[in-house]
Formats: sequence, C-alpha cells, structure tokens
Amino acid sequence: MIMGSMHTNLEETEDGFTKVAQFYGERARGGVALIITGGISPNIEGVLAPNRSVMVNDDDVVNHQKITKQVHDEGGLICMQILHAGRYGYTPAQVAPSAIQAPISPYTPKALSHDEIEKQINDFVQCALLARRAGYDGIEVMGSEGYLINQFIVPATNIRTDKWGGDFDNRCRFALEIVKRIRGVVQPSFILIFRLSLIDLVEQGSNAQEVIVLAKQLELAGVNIINTGIGWHESRVPTIATSVPRAAFTQLSRQLKAHITVPVITSNRINTPQVAESILAHGDADLVSMARPFLADSQFVNKAQQGNSDVINTCIGCNQACLDNIFINKTATCIINPRACNETTFDHSLALIPKSIAVVGGGIAGLAFAKYAAKKGHSVTLFEAQSDIGGQMTLAAQIPGKQEFYETIRYFKHRLPQLNVKIKLDCMPTSSMLSSYDDVVIATGVKPRVPDIEGINHQSVVSYADVLNGSVHLGKRVAIIGAGGIGFDMATLLLSPANETSEFLTRWGIDLSVTQRGGLFEYPNALVEPLREITLLQRRLRKPGADLGKTTGWIHRKHLKDNQVKMLVGVDYLRIDDDGLHIKVRKKPRTVAVDHIIYCSGQIENLALATQLNGLRVHAIGGARLAAGLDIQRAVNDAVALAQSI
Ligand code: NAP
Ligand code: SF4
Repeated sequence: MIMGSMHTNLEETEDGFTKVAQFYGERARGGVALIITGGISPNIEGVLAPNRSVMVNDDDVVNHQKITKQVHDEGGLICMQILHAGRYGYTPAQVAPSAIQAPISPYTPKALSHDEIEKQINDFVQCALLARRAGYDGIEVMGSEGYLINQFIVPATNIRTDKWGGDFDNRCRFALEIVKRIRGVVQPSFILIFRLSLIDLVEQGSNAQEVIVLAKQLELAGVNIINTGIGWHESRVPTIATSVPRAAFTQLSRQLKAHITVPVITSNRINTPQVAESILAHGDADLVSMARPFLADSQFVNKAQQGNSDVINTCIGCNQACLDNIFINKTATCIINPRACNETTFDHSLALIPKSIAVVGGGIAGLAFAKYAAKKGHSVTLFEAQSDIGGQMTLAAQIPGKQEFYETIRYFKHRLPQLNVKIKLDCMPTSSMLSSYDDVVIATGVKPRVPDIEGINHQSVVSYADVLNGSVHLGKRVAIIGAGGIGFDMATLLLSPANETSEFLTRWGIDLSVTQRGGLFEYPNALVEPLREITLLQRRLRKPGADLGKTTGWIHRKHLKDNQVKMLVGVDYLRIDDDGLHIKVRKKPRTVAVDHIIYCSGQIENLALATQLNGLRVHAIGGARLAAGLDIQRAVNDAVALAQSI
C-alpha cells in the first residue's frame, strides 16, 4: 500500500519541515509501505505558486533530511515527487511547451526555447540527485494531471514544430529524456516512479495506443514503477470527488498492466481495505495508492492488517478540509480527523479531573465529542432518541454519491465502544435522568426551517427530511425552495437516484477504452435525459450554490445544468395553492406549475431539551449551538474544542 502524493502546505508554515516529518512519520508508523511526498519543484519556474517548495540547494537537502529520517526511523520508505507545474503555475513566470493559456490559470505561459528545455531536464536530474542526498529512497516524476511533462505529451498543449513537438515521438521526448538522464546518474536500486496519465479527460489528449507505447518506452528508459494518473486539473470531469464511484478508473490500470512488466500502481477513489484487496485479487494492479484516506486515518494499514477495518475512519471524499484548503492557501487537514496535519500541536493530554459526561444526540457533533472526551479519560454516556446513531449523516447518505457517510457512522459504531462510551439508543433522557452527570452536552442538532409562505401547509409541500425519509412519492415537476447545499443535494437525488459506475461514466461522457483522444465521448450531455423538471429558487441575487465546495461545487452546478434544472434568483415567494408556487422574480409575478414543492430553506437549532435542564452544567455544540452555516467540519471542531476544555 502506497500513500500517494498529496500536498498539505505544511512545508510552507513555520518550522514546517518538523511538522511534515511528523505527519509522514505517523503514517509510516501506521503501516504504509511507501510514501510519496507532495510535489516539490525542480526550479522556480516550475512552482505551483510563488511560495511553494523547491529542491534546488543544500538548505533544501537539510530540510528534507528531517522527513526521510523520521520515516526511516518508523520503518517506512519514502520517495519525493518532482513536480514541474508548467502552465499550471500560479505565477506570471510560468513556462510551457507552447504559449497556450490553461483555462484554470490567469497567465499565459512563455514557450520554452530549446536551451530552456535542456535546462528544465537538467533541473529534474539535479533535483533527483539532491533528493537522493536528502535520503529519499527514490523519486516520482509527475508526468500526469496536466503538469509540464503531460503538456509536452499531448497535441492540445504542444504545437511546437521542432524536435520537442509535432509527432508523437517528438512530444514524448521531454518525458523520456528526463527519465533516461535521471536513471543515468542513480543506481538501479534508487526507485524511479513515473506518474503517467492513463486518461487525460481533455480534448486532444492522448489515446490508449499512445499511452501504451509511452509506458513501454518509459520502462526501457529505466522506470521501476508506473503510477496511474487520471484526468487533468482543468478537466470538466470529476475524478476524486465523493460522487465518483469507488475505484471507477481501475480498469485503466488493468489495461496498461497487460502491456508492461514493471509494477503498476492504481489510484483514485479507493478508500477501504476491501476495495484495495479486491483490486489486487483481480490482478487489476500490483500496488494500490491512496492519499486522502491517510489524512482521515493515519493507522489505516495497521488496522486493516490486524483485521480491525471496522475502526478505520474512512475518507468520505468531500475535499472540504484537504483540497479546498490547499486552493485557498491554507494548510490541509481532514473534516473527520482534525488531528491530520496538526500532529505537533493537537492536545493528547488526559484530563486532570475525569468527569462523568452525558451527551444527548448521536449525530456527528455528539459522536465526535464522545470520542475525544473519552480519549481524555472522561466517562461518557451518549443518548440517541432514534434507533440508530448518525443524525443528519443518515439523511445525507441517501443522496447519490454521498453513501460514504455510512462509513463514518460505521466507524463511530465500532470505535466508541472501544473507548468505553456507553450508547443508549431509542432514549430521549429527561432532566432527572441527566442530573447525576457532572456535565451535559447538548448535541441535538437541527430541524428544517419552515419558510413563512402563505399556503405552506398545502398538500404539495414537503420538507427535504420527508423526502429523505422516503415518506413521500414525488411527481415529475418539482420546485425546490432554497438553493444551498441541501437544495442542490435534493435536485441531485431527484435527477439520478443511482450512482453506479456505468451511469457515472455515461453521465460524464468518459470512454475508458480511451479510443477517443483524451478518453472523452464527443457529446456526453446529449445522453442525459432529465428524470424530472426541476426549478431551484432562492431569494438572494447571487449565483445559486455559491457556497458549495471550492473543488466540488462546479460538479453539482454542471450536473444540474446538464439536466436542464431551471435556477431562479431574486425570488419573492407569494403563495402556494393548487396551481403551484406563485412568485415574483425581480418584481415580475409568475407561477411555477408543479406537482410538489420541497423546502430546503436552512435549519434552526433543535433545543427543546436544553430549555428544561435548569441547574445542570449544560454545553451546546454543533447545530444545537448554532444552526447557521453548520457542516461536519464545524460540528467536529465544536466537539473537539469542548472535549479539550471541559
Ligand atoms: P444553506 O446552504 O444555508 O441554504 C439555505 C437556502 O435556503 C438558501 O438558498 C437560502 O437562500 C434559503 N433560505 C434561507 N432562509 C429562508 C427562508 N426563511 N425562506 C426561504 N428560503 C430561505 O443551508 P442548507 O442547504 O440547509 O445546508 C445546511 C448546511 O449544510 C450548510 O452549511 C451547507 O453548506 C451544508 N451542506 C453542504 C453541501 C455541499 O457542499 N454539497 C450539501 C449539503 C449541505 P435565500 O435566503 O437567498 O432564499
Ligand atoms: Fe477525505 Fe474529506 Fe478528510 Fe479530505 S477532508 S481527507 S476528502 S474526509
């Protein structure tokens, strides 16, 4: 099992190399066989952003020695990824094979001259030598995801007419020269991984035949392992978000493996030992790489090896605290494991005075509090009114592509008893039942806000909770009041109740045979036949779904657009009757004729119990403390803060 490259921004913080050494060291202790670092650039023109790490001199070597020593002390192996961003560099100094601006960059790159190309290759070689001096067991050359090497390989970004562009052999020359020249200066035992793009998911990318030929040439040039790269960053196809079915792209690794002899690593949306094991058992790959799952649980491998998979805290693929943070230049962490990337500062001390604590509510806030309070040495009893724990996560797990929430619920179900947390289901405690506890934590969550609209009790109106509970059968024409996260989720559910791999591939126009260049069918959206006519409404004059995740919001917006969902902003709700929903849009009256209206108009605090607990030491967390802007991250952070201070 390999921990795939994942930048955390830790290196760029104060004393960052100590922090990142601790971060990797903990994962090595957790049983990962080989770690690949986040991308380190071979020169200044290759950085992803102005402050990002490079490996160019002795100071860098000394810094990186902290990382390699810690990982080796823990019994792990570690390779440094060399990443040259090319036209993806968020800097005006970016360079590329041709002066073609990336759709995700504000800058047009400078086309490299022949001499400058030679310099880039030489910088890769020097970088590899410095990495070896820093104690790395090898390097990974980043040749996928649309970075510089990938930009040379495909005709979309390489329109040169010299020996570095034009036909396929010329376009591959840059990649092959880098590998050959690095192999020429390092021993065969120095691991040389090449991350090869098996499907670019952009127009004028490579086709399958080209990928195979290049892989064979890379093998001859001296790579020991080929890693799987899926999709360019500018691609309009999701590749790692939670809506991507697990192991959806593994077929590509199998197709390549048949043609080469060096081991192939597979990756993308593999987050459980069971999925990894089945890939290996089917012979689809020789090695399995995961990145985010090791943010969510550093002990993943040890737990799997010891037969304790049930207590793995599984990555739910949300990107919210990892990738989304990186994109706004913050340090990565994990919404369900706030200790990730905070290893040197997270408080692990036992409480001076162990207490007896009651937690009311088994949603994410209550569950997380129970875990962290029990770890501090407190005696914790958790009360849940329903017959199972999970709260809002149980509702959210009904949304196609959000089934991973069941894994979080499974994790707590097995982890809390290990920590001696007593769980009382079907039990809403009374004030007298709680009086014997030192502290009472109210984690009773939220309830849907009912919008104040004339006719809101009309038979056509339901709440999102009614729909998710399966208590209503909806008609074909639906209006959704509220275009926040839940409004978008509701539309997704009504448009595509299943999220099987075949349906996902069809919906996004993905050709896994990669017969078409880039692995894209020509007109994917023409295949989509909307299941329902949906109108999504909000009062504010701004882009619907503006608060959705930085790296995932576009997926939701595109999916709804492809399904012809009508989005209305600047709406005044007038009334609801048998004719439908009467509104004004920017002062103009109109009626939306629908079979059903679902309100997804936010939530309010569910504090019924808290008001009856006079005389007790009561604390509210999560949605019960503040419903506005609630999400898992805030709920968990509330829980951790209270558990560490109570
Ligand atoms: P939300 O994101 O705050 O959206 C609430 C929506 O209801 C807004 O569109 C708001 O727009 C509307 N609204 C608010 N008060 C209203 C009222 N009195 N009458 C009519 N409309 C009203 O809340 P949510 O959708 O319930 O989601 C809850 C939390 O979960 C949020 O923090 C959200 O970010 C998170 N979440 C995120 C995702 C995701 O990122 N994919 C998915 C689900 C949930 P107007 O006020 O403009 O009408
Ligand atoms: Fe996985 Fe979400 Fe944690 Fe990132 S924040 S590691 S995607 S669970």
